[in-house]
Amino acid sequence: MPTQAPPRPETLTIPAAMLPSDGRFGSGPSKFRPQAAQALAERAVDYMGTSHRRTGVRNVVAELRAGIAELLGAPEGYEVVMGNGGATAFWDAASFGLIERRSHHLSLGEFSSKFVDVTTTAPHLAEPSVHVGDFGTCPPLEAVEGVDAYCYPHNETSTGVMLPVQRPAGDDDSLVLVDATSAAGGLRFDAAGCDAYYFAPQKALSSDGGLWIALMSPAAVERIERLSASGRWTPAFLNLKLAVDNSRKDQTYNTPALATIFLTVEQVNWLNGNGGLEWAASRSDRSADILYGWAEASDIAAPFVSDTAIRSRVVGTIDFDDRVDADTISAVLRANGIVDTEGYRKIGRNQLRIGMFPAVEPEDIEALTACLDYICEQLIA
Ligand SMILES: *Cc1c(COP(=O)(O)O)cnc(C)c1O
Repeated sequence: MPTQAPPRPETLTIPAAMLPSDGRFGSGPSKFRPQAAQALAERAVDYMGTSHRRTGVRNVVAELRAGIAELLGAPEGYEVVMGNGGATAFWDAASFGLIERRSHHLSLGEFSSKFVDVTTTAPHLAEPSVHVGDFGTCPPLEAVEGVDAYCYPHNETSTGVMLPVQRPAGDDDSLVLVDATSAAGGLRFDAAGCDAYYFAPQKALSSDGGLWIALMSPAAVERIERLSASGRWTPAFLNLKLAVDNSRKDQTYNTPALATIFLTVEQVNWLNGNGGLEWAASRSDRSADILYGWAEASDIAAPFVSDTAIRSRVVGTIDFDDRVDADTISAVLRANGIVDTEGYRKIGRNQLRIGMFPAVEPEDIEALTACLDYICEQLIA
């Protein structure tokens, strides 16, 4: 007997009562709160379209720097530095201004490996030391002889693995540079455990792209000043000394995206006003408990990351068994207004990836799991 062709995604309608209130579950750019967009619209005439070197914008930048320091629990002496170009530009900038000679990397997915590409090809740096981990796992952080900077992500966005923010035992002199693009404002950590906690704000912080923000320790700033004075040629756009100097004046070296700054302030104020990082992380915890609890109870899905200690609370990766095709599930969801649940292509698994940042309502994750059950039933029937 011929098996029935599965329903075409565009013909499968999820009952309206099942749908989440907001269908954005991307891992970046991620959902930003409609209230933030509304607030931006209200400031369109006195903030947008005004000079980034005048008080109007600089006051907002000052608010951003103070708000980030509060949210991330900046220890005494740490400062918030920012510049243009996103986390990707920060890698290039760090290769000039923070890494003296040789870096050590934990490489466990797309984003952590991209930083390795930067330091591997930089002609002024020695070949980096790299500890590669399989997708879905994370290699241990160990002291390495002869390196001056340790680099790893707080959360590897491509695989849904989170790492503890810490210094390697036995090396107190090197800097620790942590990529927090999909973690900052959503995962708990102790800022004293690293020297640069850097991120672009369009993922965990639910703003828009184009900016990098870094919480830097006095040791990091000291390194920046020393390398700047050393005569190493550095493109001005990637010069962290210029970034530090400008940030202290609440401005950026060149024109920033004012809307991105505004939306970031909105999100940071919303998080701080509700209880700060602990409150924000608790929201993501609720979402993660719902998503992984559902997957563990399901007979068709399972969390991809088996070690619960490193299973991300902000980006959930869920494997499906071969009775259903995850790409088809994503296509059905998309046709019903639920977007960006596709897995990271290069992992090559039958997988969905779900953003569970603080801006996402845990109830919407709950609704999403009901939609997933519904779709799987229809596809298998
Ligand atoms: C998205 C992402 C980046 C790159 O951010 P851009 O703003 O696009 O440069 C870097 N690191 C991590 C962990 C990311 O998730």
